[in-house]
Amino acid sequence: MAERAESFSLLTDFSLLIDGEARQALEHLHVINPAYGEPFARCPAAGQAELDEAVAGARRAFESWRRTSYEHRAGLIRELAAALREHQDPLAELLTREQGKPLNQSVAEIDRGAAQSEGMVGIEIPVETLIDDEQRHIELHYRPLGVVGIITPWNAPVNLALGPLVSALYTGNTIVLKPSPYTPLTTLKLGELLGEIFPAGVVNVLAGGDDLGQSMTEHADIDKISFTGSVATGKKVFASAAGTLKRVTLELGGNDPAIILDDVDPKAIAKRVFFASFVNSGQVCMAIKRIYAHESVYDELCEALVEQANAAVVGNGLDPATQLGPIQNRMQFDKVVNVLEETRQSGARILCGGEVPDEPGYFFPPTLVTDIAEDSRLVRDEQFGPIVPILKFSDLDDALRRANDTRYGLSGSVWTSDTEKGAEIAAQLEVGTAWVNQHRATSAYVPFGGAKESGYGRQYSILGLKGYMEPEVVSVAK
Ligand code: NAD
Repeated sequence: MAERAESFSLLTDFSLLIDGEARQALEHLHVINPAYGEPFARCPAAGQAELDEAVAGARRAFESWRRTSYEHRAGLIRELAAALREHQDPLAELLTREQGKPLNQSVAEIDRGAAQSEGMVGIEIPVETLIDDEQRHIELHYRPLGVVGIITPWNAPVNLALGPLVSALYTGNTIVLKPSPYTPLTTLKLGELLGEIFPAGVVNVLAGGDDLGQSMTEHADIDKISFTGSVATGKKVFASAAGTLKRVTLELGGNDPAIILDDVDPKAIAKRVFFASFVNSGQVCMAIKRIYAHESVYDELCEALVEQANAAVVGNGLDPATQLGPIQNRMQFDKVVNVLEETRQSGARILCGGEVPDEPGYFFPPTLVTDIAEDSRLVRDEQFGPIVPILKFSDLDDALRRANDTRYGLSGSVWTSDTEKGAEIAAQLEVGTAWVNQHRATSAYVPFGGAKESGYGRQYSILGLKGYMEPEVVSVAK
């Protein structure tokens, strides 16, 4: 119980970053290690006064930052990527302690964030010539928006901050970044690195509660909100941003279907399908959340997935053997337990897992469910935890109809030995990203975001970068 002993001496070496200065605050957040359910750290929590200072600093810094070149900004972002790699080990350990995920996945999250940052600054945003004839020359320019507020969730705090942060900075905006109150620590440490690299005011990092997020969406001097989180909060952000017609990018929840065709070898795909469903204990926006398997491979797939689940090591993320860590917070743990109970009471069959250990920490075994109604909560809603339904189909059109019968539309996948057929079927999924024989593959050069209620706008790629800019037509009469 190392963390319990440590709770008497909380880690407190954390600061906000406001206008280039490391700052404390009157209020604090206590951060819980989900492997023990005990607080292990305390950090300052910003209120309205700190937010106003940060926004004012970002506004002042914008005037000179917007005039710097793409090359200059790309150079500083590459320095950031190098600093992330240099500090990867302590950052990853802190990320595991506050978030719960296995250490190798924390390392991978930081590494991926660094690589995607470098990828994005390789993208050019040229001035586009729209018309050039005898009478006129018309160009489309893109200019930065101003101050961007970035609000992130608790499941992948580093990666989900870096995507919008790098997009905003590279395109000439300044930022105020707010992590989830459940996982503020690694982001505050990221703020220390950012403070050493970028001029004062260009990047501000404020830990704080949900009310701070709401204040950001209402703030008259913030020009855009880039929000990653739940659909319910995303709708509040959208409504609140309307007051000042802020630009918004919303990266929201998903209920991703995976459609498994009759021509696959279930044993060959089971490991990939399992980890695409259960990685980070299912707390991934684009995890597989519903598996639709053709009746001819259904039983064999169920068996192979159960084998994976029984072999998966659940435990403290700092233990090198761990493959699946705890659920990140008590509220989410209670929600998943509640979904399990409802599922059990409905008469559905719990194939494996389903027994929550009576021990400290928010541990929940990987749980697979069959014989479940299509209109059950587990199938209809985003569970965001390690419990996944496997549903049977006999007719492909019926599978597609059921896969698309949802207000979510983040991503989905089709699994088949015929990739051409797979691509045709994937294109019929009503989602932002449809994969074939893979799930969760992303890149700095490929737009990512949700259809329907899973989001608004895109991150990454030139499409994502343009979301941080205002298009401006320059029309010259000859
Ligand atoms: P959440 O919506 O509860 O909170 C996200 C952030 O919003 C936190 O920083 C929170 O403090 C802040 N917030 C809360 N109320 C607010 C308000 N009224 N105004 C402004 N900000 C407010 O989400 P969560 O529980 O932290 O994260 C889990 C959700 O995030 C899941 O639904 C998951 O699918 C989604 N997610 C989506 C993506 C994606 O890229 N599409 C990625 C990761 C997670």
